[in-house]
Amino acid sequence: MNLILLGAQGSGKGTLAKNISRDFGLVQISTGDLFRESIAKKEKLGLKAKEYMNRGELVPIELTLKILNERISKPDCKKGFILDGFPRSIEQAEALKEVANIDYVINVELPYEECVARLTTRRTCPNCGDIDNMTYEGYTGNCRKCGTPLFQRDDDKPEAIKTRLEVYEKTTTPLINFYSDRLFKVSSLGTPEDTYRPVKDFLSNLGRKK
Ligand code: ADP
Ligand code: ZN
Repeated sequence: MNLILLGAQGSGKGTLAKNISRDFGLVQISTGDLFRESIAKKEKLGLKAKEYMNRGELVPIELTLKILNERISKPDCKKGFILDGFPRSIEQAEALKEVANIDYVINVELPYEECVARLTTRRTCPNCGDIDNMTYEGYTGNCRKCGTPLFQRDDDKPEAIKTRLEVYEKTTTPLINFYSDRLFKVSSLGTPEDTYRPVKDFLSNLGRKK
């Protein structure tokens, strides 16, 4: 089974992807994480992508397809995958058709103001990529998984947040119609568990086909 997760920045899409990946044995593919890994390794592709990312703009499609196709063609993806952060435009969705079949698209819904609020207080682990939020109970400023001090991503600063959400609204939301024949919608206003429950029920009732 291959899935796409749609949802604005701060909608809790990444957290939902982790839950699905764990319970359904699907590989989570986050193009943002792939770019950040490439930057950390000082690869050419990553360094080219970085300037766009820091501004909160989409990375050009050639670079994005290159990093996605490399990942998707690895053997572990044969058991199924969840795309988290790809596609983000109709152009990317059309390109995806050439390399994979998508069974379902899950759209995570959260109002704009709530997305901004969550992104502003979001903190990330530079070591393992885990995400935390300053407003969550038990927040210490250190990673809950590996203890490393958390940091604020450059693109989680106010100017980039605004750009990212605008790009999402304009370029990515048309995908909701594009995938209307295989769409499952969920609100992320509650806790991460509240968001996951209906999705888990939906996917479980498919009888884990494929
Ligand atoms: P967010 O969804 O919170 O913006 P991501 O980690 O998914 O964070 O992405 C970070 C940045 O990486 C994006 O702002 C963009 O610059 C780049 N990026 C990720 N996925 C794509 C994509 N599918 N197309 C173009 N750029 C992308
Ligand atoms: Zn960590």
